[in-house]
Amino acid sequence: MLSKHPQPTAPTSAKCTIETLRSAVLSISQPLLLLHTILKDTEMKKALITGANKSIGFETARQLLNQGYFVYLGSRDAERGAQAVAQLKSEGLDNVELLQIDVSNPASVEAAGKKVSELDVLINNAGILGGMEQSALTIGLDTVREVYDTNFFGAINVTQTFIEALKKSAEPRIVNVTSGLGSLTLHSDPNWKYYQVKTAAYGTSKTALNAYTVVLAYELKDTAFKVNVVDPGYTQTDFNHHNGPGSVEDAAKIIVKYATLDADGPTGKYFSNDIDTADQESPW
Ligand code: NAP
Repeated sequence: MLSKHPQPTAPTSAKCTIETLRSAVLSISQPLLLLHTILKDTEMKKALITGANKSIGFETARQLLNQGYFVYLGSRDAERGAQAVAQLKSEGLDNVELLQIDVSNPASVEAAGKKVSELDVLINNAGILGGMEQSALTIGLDTVREVYDTNFFGAINVTQTFIEALKKSAEPRIVNVTSGLGSLTLHSDPNWKYYQVKTAAYGTSKTALNAYTVVLAYELKDTAFKVNVVDPGYTQTDFNHHNGPGSVEDAAKIIVKYATLDADGPTGKYFSNDIDTADQESPW
């Protein structure tokens, strides 16, 4: 049945012109939009944080995302990593991608390395304690090896795997997350507040990481790289059954500070949240 009130329709020629115009605009704007996304992606600095599915690493990811970085969120467990990524995205922090990486597993590190071609910041954060019983006289070599596999050999392997991606950056930064328990000078001072906290595997693995960082920074000293070790301070996390006094926010803040150094920033140094001087530089 014919409608009593026929709907007004645009004359065929006018309809054609509008449609032609629309498809012309679309054909121009879509490549422009794509170009804009590509340019935005290439402008955005990219950071990889290992062990970022929780605690200090996770908060470091959040702070870098808030500063406009793209973050590869490193997690050895895909499920835990996906949950962390989902949490950040639910906070409106979209520029984050899960990178499954178990730093103590060479095959996992190699596979992760193939997924990242350019990087501006590497934060070797993944770390384990290895239990509380760490006497120099009795500790099992298995425990020492296990701790070193993550805290020392893992950090070296990750660094070597991602170094070519970092070399593509104009301002590459490496932060190796250490501990005050890695300082030989502080450990030799009976007045130091953690003098009695001696750990034959964990502390020594961080001392070794410090030594590696000094060598690495030396080899990269005539380049744009800034390479430092940062101790986030005794922080309340799963690591110490939430006994630490510091917050993950403050711990991440000092890591982010040295991950985002400008060209005048230091390299080959040791900084700590537990050092009360203005520059927070720690003795080795
Ligand atoms: P945490 O709560 O125990 O978290 C450690 C993170 O590292 C987790 O995401 C863990 O993954 C990951 N991880 C462990 N082994 C790994 C491996 N083989 N490959 C990849 N990821 C691995 O510890 P945290 O307190 O955040 O500590 C972070 C860093 O700060 C560590 O290097 C630690 O030595 C250092 N630090 C901590 C304190 C402190 O008081 N908390 C003080 C000084 C230095 P899973 O969830 O899968 O276990």
